[in-house]
Amino acid sequence: MDRIDFNNKTVVITGGGKGIGQACSELFARLGAKLAVLDRDGESGGHTVSSINSRGGSAKFFECDVSKAAQVNQTIQEVCSRFGGIDVLVSNAGIQEYGDVVDTTEELWDKVMSVNLKSCFLVSKAAIPSIIERGGGAIVVVGSVQSMTAIGNSAAYVTAKHGLLGLVRAMALDYAAKGIRVNCVCPGAIDTPMLRWAANLDPNPQKVIETCGRMHAMGRIGKPEEVAQAIAYLASSWASFITGAALLVDGGMLVPAGGMGFQESGTGAATK
Ligand code: NDP
Repeated sequence: MDRIDFNNKTVVITGGGKGIGQACSELFARLGAKLAVLDRDGESGGHTVSSINSRGGSAKFFECDVSKAAQVNQTIQEVCSRFGGIDVLVSNAGIQEYGDVVDTTEELWDKVMSVNLKSCFLVSKAAIPSIIERGGGAIVVVGSVQSMTAIGNSAAYVTAKHGLLGLVRAMALDYAAKGIRVNCVCPGAIDTPMLRWAANLDPNPQKVIETCGRMHAMGRIGKPEEVAQAIAYLASSWASFITGAALLVDGGMLVPAGGMGFQESGTGAATK
């Protein structure tokens, strides 16, 4: 195939209302996919699909809290009956919460695990039989640089993102013979409402964004579209021999040894 396209493919994207999920929805639509956009936020999810449809794309919004099994099962059933099946799943929805182990309440721990980790299990479990029925397809999971490393004060988030990588590898192994490839993208800091929310916890949000940018070898934070492109690649037939992989989309954030890139006095590649 000369170029990536998703013509006649149904793509399910969780958390498709905002940020990385929204960028993915728009990109997959431009590449010809029929889209099922799942989000718990009806307003932003509705906006994503109406903007796609107004430009000639094909998208339908499904209001769904992907951390709840009953909602996921019903939604995936509706997606299958409307579109005739599923070819690609992008498990992207997630939330950021802070706290070390002592500060993190059991309730917060359970919430972070449910939204960031259990949701991927639930949507995959519901979608895989249909992907198999269609003769195979792809699952792309949105992890994080925190799937491989840790930052302070984020015990539950880091644990959930590490867990996703385990789940990706387990599913890659279990479904390779059924023609399903399962991969993970691991973004660095990306300019989305989630990142802006985190920056706004500081009295000087702009300084946080700039400091964040300097943590990446490329000297800037990423754009949601840049993650969407990596996701589309992994979901496409161009990645036909890639499964169980974790692709960093981090502007070189994890390249420096010993975290030197995290210091203002570090390797300084981008500040010279
Ligand atoms: P955003 O918060 O900007 O967008 C996420 C979308 O998912 C929102 O519309 C959100 O709704 C929705 N969502 C959250 N929880 C649920 C749920 N239970 N059910 C359905 N929808 C839900 O996040 P990003 O685009 O920044 O993040 C997307 C993914 O990328 C996440 O998994 C995140 O952990 C990961 N990531 C992000 C990075 C970044 O720097 N932005 C870096 C590395 C990884 P609502 O607004 O109501 O919460």
